[in-house]
Amino acid sequence: MIEAGAQNPAARTLNTPEAEIGEMMRMVIAHEVGHALGLPHNMKASSAYATDSLRSAEFTQKYGLTPSIMDYARVNYVAQPEDENVRYIRMMGPYDLYAINWGYRYIPEANSPIEENVSGCGTKLYHFLLFPLYVDLIQKDLLHFLLYLLHILLQNILRLPG
Ligand SMILES: [Zn+2]
Repeated sequence: MIEAGAQNPAARTLNTPEAEIGEMMRMVIAHEVGHALGLPHNMKASSAYATDSLRSAEFTQKYGLTPSIMDYARVNYVAQPEDENVRYIRMMGPYDLYAINWGYRYIPEANSPIEENVSGCGTKLYHFLLFPLYVDLIQKDLLHFLLYLLHILLQNILRLPG
């Protein structure tokens, strides 16, 4: 949580509210239970959401920071101090629900795992990659993405005291 200290004043105190501790515990437990249920890390999940959507309170509270708790998107680094009620801690997302449903639900009309998976094919929310590959960035508007990150980085440097 302290990683979001530049943006989130609540991350700069040792008196972390119980609700925040509960959210962090929920995040870690959900991730580890995901492993226990057979889900590996999904390093591609965080590429599914538009970067600027992470500044929206409505979006992040509803969809989280990434479609999967199995991603390694630690905290919301994109949110800025003026982004009120934005979510900083990741949560379970549509990929997790889809993967558990696909892995554990009996689908009598499907004759193979591939037939079971048809509903998720082609939907970016359900893409999976065990290791991060930056090829995906090339498919996006890389220059726009990098300029946006540079803008956020400079804003955060300007917030530093002294
Ligand atoms: Zn893990």
